[in-house]
Order: sequence, then structure tokens, then C-alpha cells
Amino acid sequence: MDDAAQHYSRAAAHPAFCRPNSSAPRGGVANLLAVTNPQALSPGTTASSNHQLPRQLMKKKQNENMEDVVVVVGGGIVGISTCYYLLKQGRKKRLILVEREKIACAASGKAGGLIGGVGWGDEITEPLHEKGFQLHKELATDLELKSYREISTYQVMFRKNNRFKGEEEGGARLLDRKETKINAIQAQTAQVTPLELCEKMFAYCVEKGVEVVYGEAQLEKRNGEFVVNVNGEIFAGMCVLATGPWAIEAEDWLGVSMPMVGIASSSMILRNLDAKVDAKVCFCQQDAKTETHLEIYPRPDNSIYVCGMGGSPHLDKEDIVKTRAETVPRSSKAPRVLGLLERVTAVGVDSSTEFVLQSCMRPCADDALPIIDKIGNVVVATGLNCWGITWGPAVGCLVSEMIGEKKTSINISPFSLGRFS
Ligand SMILES: Cc1cc2nc3c(=O)[nH]c(=O)nc-3n(C[C@H](O)[C@H](O)[C@H](O)COP(=O)(O)OP(=O)(O)OC[C@H]3O[C@@H](n4cnc5c(N)ncnc54)[C@H](O)[C@@H]3O)c2cc1C
Repeated sequence: MDDAAQHYSRAAAHPAFCRPNSSAPRGGVANLLAVTNPQALSPGTTASSNHQLPRQLMKKKQNENMEDVVVVVGGGIVGISTCYYLLKQGRKKRLILVEREKIACAASGKAGGLIGGVGWGDEITEPLHEKGFQLHKELATDLELKSYREISTYQVMFRKNNRFKGEEEGGARLLDRKETKINAIQAQTAQVTPLELCEKMFAYCVEKGVEVVYGEAQLEKRNGEFVVNVNGEIFAGMCVLATGPWAIEAEDWLGVSMPMVGIASSSMILRNLDAKVDAKVCFCQQDAKTETHLEIYPRPDNSIYVCGMGGSPHLDKEDIVKTRAETVPRSSKAPRVLGLLERVTAVGVDSSTEFVLQSCMRPCADDALPIIDKIGNVVVATGLNCWGITWGPAVGCLVSEMIGEKKTSINISPFSLGRFS
């Protein structure tokens, strides 16, 4: 299934478009590419900060029952949300978060940040959308997020040779109306910049006592229980595997079947635009010429995030384990994408426009549904596909309920690993 099918079959449509509302001169694509820092076109280096583990972390604390230690592996939105909701629920557990590279270094720091509530999803995923939307609203207030806002979303169709004569909706400031026709999408939608959300949730967790360990974790079985081995040091207790696409390694560790791919998706951020951008998100129709289905998200800091560049490689298990947070972006597609962006919007770019091209994997199970299950003392939470920012807090909250051995607030049986056996 390609990118477009993943997005459109599940929700009819997704992100956005914008246009500056001034008559500032447009610099054009050639100009933009000419001023681009060549380094911005190549994958960013994600320094692998495998610090030495502080040994005292491994020592059993006085009177500590190892059952009360929870080790969360993966510092993406799912792992961070799990810690956050365990803390919020006042669990008297010792919490340890293990991350191999950097907090939110993979999809959780590079996603668009569309939050789809009521009206998005299907009968299986609807509860995740609704809970996710509600939790995001609370998080925005509690963490004083600057990048959160409710936003309207449009489906964008291209006119052919400007001959379209149909009904038009308002909101023309967003798009170049000579080139496009738009339909408002009637669904509850908000947006957040994922990196701001993850960093602020993480800061809260650290402030409240979550211990952070940088290193590569593996699961091992000892005396019938799974333990977490990080660079040779062992952590016992309950483990949460929130390692995004890399959770596929658990097939070997836990002896389960987890058919999943990592979809390596490129995205772009344009900053320093020469005019104010409207708060309208658009999902563009598939464009045969550029082989894209652009999703364009204007952000409150007046930058524009673009994804849906098409042709994303699907990485299998062998390639996933060799890959790290940053994958190679499809830089050859950038000029065509910018050309299309310029055609359908009135975004003005000039020599001061900053342009970043990046790429990362999103974890997608064969049926595109999340995986949330418990095997012995290990909870696996992954496969959030193209909705991981929306669903991440809800999934973190569900995992915290599982650890507390509470009835989960959403029926998680459709997300069990048993569906693959
Ligand atoms: C281009 C793009 C746009 C997107 N846009 C949206 C959107 O608009 N809205 C939306 O809802 N969703 C969106 N998504 C989806 C969303 O970003 C992902 O589903 C979500 O971020 C996955 O989060 P995660 O925590 O499961 O995994 P990740 O973010 O991949 O985090 C996993 C972490 O685990 C760490 N790790 C892995 N293995 C180990 C190990 N052995 N030891 C220690 N650490 C380890 C990694 O370094 C990483 O930091 C988008 C995704 C992409 C790629």
C-alpha cells in the first residue's frame, strides 16, 4: 500500500495548504533552491549519544520491589506519553526511559502534527482519534504549548488548464484559485508541532523524577521473565517496548509474529516566508506528473510543513534494524514538489527563505492498525502509522492503564498481536 492509500483509505483526506496574504514578490522555486544551504538537503546527522550508564541506576534501591520498576524503551511520542500518563496517574513506580539516539529524533520529532478527532478514522480507530484529540487539548493547556491550535482542513483538487467552472468555497486566500478547487473537510482537526509537544512532555517527566538512560536496549529472557539489557547493564521489572518501527526486533526477543514495515517518508519545512500564512491545512489530490499527494501544514510560527512527497520506500525487517532515526530524504523530488507548491499556493519565497528536507520511518503493520499487547512482563506499543501524533498520548495512556492492571479505557483487542497468528 502506498502513502496515499494509507492516508486516504483511512480518513478520506488529511493536511493542508496556505498562502501569504501580502503582495510580496515571489522568489520562485529556482530562487529558493539557489539559496538553500546544501547541507539542509542531506540527512541531518543524529549524534548517537550513548552516554555511559550511571551505575547507580542499576542498583536496587532500599526496600525496592523490582515489580515496581517500569522500564520504557523508546523516546518517541509513545514512550514519552507512557511515562507522562504513568506519572499523571500517580503510580508509585520507579520509571526509567531508555533512548538510543535523542528524544524525538525519529518520526515523533519530524511528523506534520495533524490531530484528527471526531470524523476521522473508521469504526476500529475512531475511539483512538476521539481520546487522542481530547488528550491533546488538555496537554496544550497543561504544557502551555505554543504550536497547538484548532484548524480547518481542506481537500484540494487541481484545475486542468484553468477551465474549472464549478462551485467554490470560501477560503480563497489559502490557495491560488486559478489553479485549484477546494472542499472543506468536515471533521474535528487541530495541529501541534510534534517536537515541541515531545520535548515539553519529556521535560515534565524528568522534572517529576523519570530517570533517563541513553543506550541501545535489547530484551533477554532470564528465569522466565524478560529483562532489559542496555549496553550490558540489566534492568528488571515491567518493560514497555515503544520503539516505533524497531519494535520489529521483538519478533526474535519475544518469539512473536509482528508483520510490519518502516515507511521512509520525506518531508520539508519552509521558514522565513515573506508574508503571513493563513491557518488552513490542505490535502492535495494525487498529482500524476509529480507523483505526489501533498499535505501542506501552515504552522503558527509562520513556517510551512509539507509531506506526502510520494514514492516512500517500504523497509523490511532486515533494513529497519540497520537504519537509524534519520533516513535518506528524496532530494531529487524536492524541485518538483516546490514547483507544485508554488503552482497551487501563493507562497512567496525569496533569498531569505530557509528550507529543510528530512526523512524518517513511520511504523506500519500489515493491516495498518496499531499493535498494543502484553506478553509476560512486556507491553508492546507500536505501529501507529500515519496517526502516531494524534494517537500517541491515547496509546501512552492505555499502556499506563495496562501496567496498572486496570481495565483499559478503550477496547484494545483489535490491536493484539494474536491477529497475526
Ligand atoms: C512524514 C511523516 C508525517 C507524519 N505526520 C503525522 C501527522 O500529521 N499526524 C499524526 O498523527 N501522525 C503523523 N505521523 C506519524 C507519527 O509521526 C508516528 O506514527 C509516530 O511518531 C511514531 O511514534 P513512536 O513513538 O511509535 O516511534 P518513533 O518516533 O520512531 O520513536 C521510537 C524511538 O525508539 C528509539 N529506539 C528504537 N530502538 C531502540 C532501542 N533498541 N533502544 C533504545 N531506543 C530505541 C528510537 O531511537 C526512537 O527515538 C507522521 C509520520 C511521518 C513519517
